[in-house]
Amino acid sequence: MAGPQFSTRAESNLYRSWGADVIGMTNLQEAKLAREAEICYATMAMVTDYDCWHDGHDDVTVEQIVAVLNQNAANAAKVVGAAVAAMPKDRTCACATALQYAILTNPAAISAEVHERLDLLIGKYLEKKRQDNHGDSGSGKCCI
Ligand SMILES: [Zn+2]
Repeated sequence: MAGPQFSTRAESNLYRSWGADVIGMTNLQEAKLAREAEICYATMAMVTDYDCWHDGHDDVTVEQIVAVLNQNAANAAKVVGAAVAAMPKDRTCACATALQYAILTNPAAISAEVHERLDLLIGKYLEKKRQDNHGDSGSGKCCI
């Protein structure tokens, strides 16, 4: 779901009927942005509450969520430390080249200002497309 928001009881039961075990409010946007930036992405879900479906628990409050969030913070720091230590030095996953076929705009139509602003993310592809389109060996910046 796109959050922040609390589920209604009907929404909570709907998610459960779909087989969902965890509701996250920021994952979709984060995953899309990470993919566009060719950044590897993984979710570390730290559960804070039962949402509102569980008959044995009262509906959740902001204060309860914040209290659990604070308890989870130390565990999250440990997990991030261990995950970073376990990362391979060389990246061979598809994330690293996710944009290679995604830029459909003619490089000649991309202004120098836009090229410079996006250079960190897509500069390597713009230069390659420019060379492919013009048979140019490349002289550095944008072809405009
Ligand atoms: Zn990756």
